[in-house]
Amino acid sequence: MKNEQIMQQQFQARMNEDELLNCMRCGFCLPTCPTYIESGFQESHSPRGRIALMKAVVDGLIEPDEDVERSLQLCLGCRACEPVCPSGVRYGHLLEEARDIIAQHKTYSPIVRFIRHLVFKQLFPYPKRMRIATALLGFYQRSGLQSFARKLGLLRLLPNHLATMEKVLPNVPTWKEMNERPTHVEALAPRKRRVAFFSGCLMDTMFMDINDRTMKLLQLAGCDIVIPEAQTCCGALHGHSGEKADAKTLAKRNIEAFEALNVDYIVTNAGGCGAFLIEYDHLLKDDPVWAERAKAFVAKIKDVSVILVELGFHHRSLRLPNQIVTYQDSCHLRNVMKTASEPRLLLQSIAGVEFREMKDADRCCGSAGIYNIVHPDMSMQVLDYKMEQAKQTKATTIVTANPGCLLQMKLGIEREGLANVRAVHLVDLLFEAVEATKEATEPMKQTG
Ligand code: SF4
Ligand code: SF4
Repeated sequence: MKNEQIMQQQFQARMNEDELLNCMRCGFCLPTCPTYIESGFQESHSPRGRIALMKAVVDGLIEPDEDVERSLQLCLGCRACEPVCPSGVRYGHLLEEARDIIAQHKTYSPIVRFIRHLVFKQLFPYPKRMRIATALLGFYQRSGLQSFARKLGLLRLLPNHLATMEKVLPNVPTWKEMNERPTHVEALAPRKRRVAFFSGCLMDTMFMDINDRTMKLLQLAGCDIVIPEAQTCCGALHGHSGEKADAKTLAKRNIEAFEALNVDYIVTNAGGCGAFLIEYDHLLKDDPVWAERAKAFVAKIKDVSVILVELGFHHRSLRLPNQIVTYQDSCHLRNVMKTASEPRLLLQSIAGVEFREMKDADRCCGSAGIYNIVHPDMSMQVLDYKMEQAKQTKATTIVTANPGCLLQMKLGIEREGLANVRAVHLVDLLFEAVEATKEATEPMKQTG
């Protein structure tokens, strides 16, 4: 039997037909879809078109051939099409299932197979290996190799977008710093909550300073924090790339690591991870042992901005030097975790910040996991539009709430040559405001 025929059978067996039938082809989702817009309004690159293709495969009208695959792979998975859908189609779930079927039956070249095996099975599930990989990057950055490679122009050997990406990578922590992570920290104000922190794989290595600031803000807000050592990667990368079985294994490890902790919330600071964690109940819905445990886990997931607002962080009299700030939504934080107002409220509460909403702040920036690496042309097209909107606000600080979005914003700033503009994570700016406010009030206290 041909591969396409096997895939077709899998589509018929595994795709949720009711969900596919829910789409009434109204097209309300079309204006929200970046790939539809950037492809010159091609139906096959719209949510409605993609759902129609999946349905046609299920109905046996077409085979899941290269065109179907291209259409599904070019989707950013941003899920901007979901909140506007009057039928409530859970497009993201359909996409995940279809991609998983394709990935399991696709014949990859040996090199792609090797890279997928390395990334999905040998690297991300193992926090220690993530630390080793980050330490190697740190060696490259600190040993002089980076400046040597730049001087010799070796980066020109890379595709343009990767060479620019190399320039915007954060300075990563040292091996020692990565291995001295706390497992418990106490509130620095009267205790109001006991929370667990989901530290993530990239966030606790490459972006470790953001994790440290997140915990410091939570402590200041009155949280005792537990950081279970047994936690692992959330599995989002696996789930979105057709490695669902591995995603389920990681989900189970995380549920096990957190479920006995007796905490009010499980806090995340990365929209991409949070959105995947909050859908573990969907991921494990057919598993009789894990379905209920997944539901209990999901009920506790919250983004850090939500907890900070709940604990009144926006009522602190924080201030920063005068600056114009804009906010780029993390698609998954907004469309899946339904968190959009809290980050804005926190930013607007800082004196000195002039908050300007950019047009289409809720449209994807083109980062989308590893999308900017595997689909650079579409990703850069989407990013260029985003940077145009950011420039219109005249903001000097672009804030976001997910590591992928943060790197993509930095990439956009570099591509546009915007020397006076910076991109930061929400917790970076809040922490900066805490420090600046402390510095401003301490001398006053001393003279008083
Ligand atoms: S908005 Fe919903 S129902 Fe309408 S076309 Fe899009 S997915 Fe289908
Ligand atoms: S997930 Fe994003 S890119 Fe994909 S169809 Fe929906 S709106 Fe378009």
